[in-house]
Order: sequence, then structure tokens, then C-alpha cells
Amino acid sequence: MIANLVNDLVVLCPNREKGCTTSCARWLVESHVREDCEYATVKCAKEGCDGMVERREAEGDCVHEEVECAFCQGPIRKLDIEVHYKECPKLSSDCRHCSQSFPNPELADHKLICPEEVIDCAASHFGCSYSSRRSELDDHLSHCHFVALTPILQLHTERIETLELENKAVRQKLDLLVPPRPLPTQMSGTNSSTTNDYNSAGRDMTSEMQDYTYHLYSEYEQLRSDVERLNAQIRELDVKQDMARFNEGLRYNDEMAGVRAAINGLRMQLHWLVASRRETGTGGAGSAAGPRSIGGSSVGGDGRRMSVDSARQVVKL
Ligand SMILES: [Zn+2]
Ligand SMILES: [Zn+2]
Ligand SMILES: [Zn+2]
Ligand SMILES: [Zn+2]
Ligand SMILES: [Zn+2]
Repeated sequence: MIANLVNDLVVLCPNREKGCTTSCARWLVESHVREDCEYATVKCAKEGCDGMVERREAEGDCVHEEVECAFCQGPIRKLDIEVHYKECPKLSSDCRHCSQSFPNPELADHKLICPEEVIDCAASHFGCSYSSRRSELDDHLSHCHFVALTPILQLHTERIETLELENKAVRQKLDLLVPPRPLPTQMSGTNSSTTNDYNSAGRDMTSEMQDYTYHLYSEYEQLRSDVERLNAQIRELDVKQDMARFNEGLRYNDEMAGVRAAINGLRMQLHWLVASRRETGTGGAGSAAGPRSIGGSSVGGDGRRMSVDSARQVVKL
């Protein structure tokens, strides 16, 4: 019913911009364009030509044939000849602004410097609304405030652009981290209760990807802190081990000193034994040495006891 009403509406031909003034019911438009419209594009009537022309021109000569330009002798398609006359290197055209005539190849260069063209102030993108003929603009440029401020404005613009980029990067990072969302593995169960904000439009691929990225990111952070913790522990252990080794070294040194002292004691004892044996031997041979030997032995006995005691002490140590 509605479709019928719409189809009965009177509409303009889709080729109206090219010049067709036909208007008809909507359902007839298609056949108009296909069969009648003078401005519809159709295949060229000439045999073997693949070009397209508007229907009103299809009956005339084929416009796709190449003809020779009367001025530059270049091969130009008949269709394009009007356009070519505006560019033909042998012809001249008038400047739109100063109405002077220039050979076509020079016109483009002239357009950049034509003194009559009305142009905007060089600082127009910073807000100067002044415009005048090119020949008179220099006067304005010498006291335009915007031109004077251009270097600093340029600097600020660049800084703002840099900051915007930085801000974007930071925002992306922040979006990954805040608000903290549950990991995808827990998502299925607690979907509706915990992620309402993110869920309202339904979970699509991108948000799932984001969740996954967030998951990976948090895991990565976790691992990094683990590694840091382990590093600290290893350093602590290193220090502890060094201390233990140092203490053990000290203990060994003490023990060695004790052993050395004990050996010294034994050596002295041995000396004394050897000496006393020698003396008792000589004492038995001659009576004159008797009192000396007694004295010697008594002194020796003390010395022996002392040295034994000291040796025992040293060993205890
Ligand atoms: Zn038409
Ligand atoms: Zn043709
Ligand atoms: Zn030409
Ligand atoms: Zn000009
Ligand atoms: Zn200005």
C-alpha cells in the first residue's frame, strides 16, 4: 500500500543536472531513462566504437574518433576538442583576473603571480580575514598583527599537535587499564552484573579484543612484578651467602690459629723432653751435675706442667 503510494509520486528525471526536464511517476522513471531520456548515457552508435555518449548525440558522427588539432596538429578526440582549445600550447587564453592574454603553457605560471587576483592574507589560517588584490597585499602584510605573530602561533600549533598525539596515546593506555574489568575467563558468568556500561550495546568483537588485550596486559604486568620480586630475593640471598662465607672464613682462621698454637706447645714440650733427657743422661754420668740436674728437673717439671696446661688450653680454644 505504502509502496504503491510512493510509486505514484511524481519525480524528476535523475539526469536533470545534465538538462533533462522530464518529470513522471516514480514507477515510470526507470523506463524513461532506459528508453527515452535524451541525456542518458548510451553506447556510441558507430560500429566498433566502445565509447559512451548521451542519447541526443548518439545519432551524429562518432565523437570518439581522433581528429587533428588545427593549431598544434596533435591527435585529439572530437569529444575533447573544446577542452583542448583551452590548453593547446599554440593558443593563448585570457587570465581570469587581469584579462591579459597569455600563451596557454605560461598561463599556469602567471596565475601564481597575477597582481589582480584577490587573495587572502598570508596569516588567514590564524584568523586574519583581510583579503585584497595581490599587488596591494604587501602593504597589509607589513602591519598585520597575525603575520607578526605567525612564528609564535606556528610554534604553539605544533606543540598542540604534539600534545594531542601524546594525549591520544595516553588515553589509549588508560582505556586499557581503567575501569578495571574482569578477565574474559570470568566474563561469561558475571557478564550482566559487572560490565553493564560496556555491555549496553552488546559485546562485539572489538570489546572482546580489548578485554583480551587488557587481560594480556595485566598478566604481563603481573609477570614483571614477579620477576622484580625474584630479583630482589636473589640479591638478598647473595648478600646473606657472602656474610655466611665471611663468618665461616673467620671461624676457620681462629681454628687454624688454635691448631698452630697447639703445635707450637707440642714442639716446646718436645724440646724440653729432649733437653731434660739429655741432662739426666749427663747427670747420671757425673755427680757434680747432681744439684743442677735436680734444679733443672724441678724447673723442667714446672715448665712441663705449664706447657701441657697451655697446650690443653689452646686445644680447648
Ligand atoms: Zn530524462
Ligand atoms: Zn564513438
Ligand atoms: Zn592543439
Ligand atoms: Zn592575470
Ligand atoms: Zn592579515
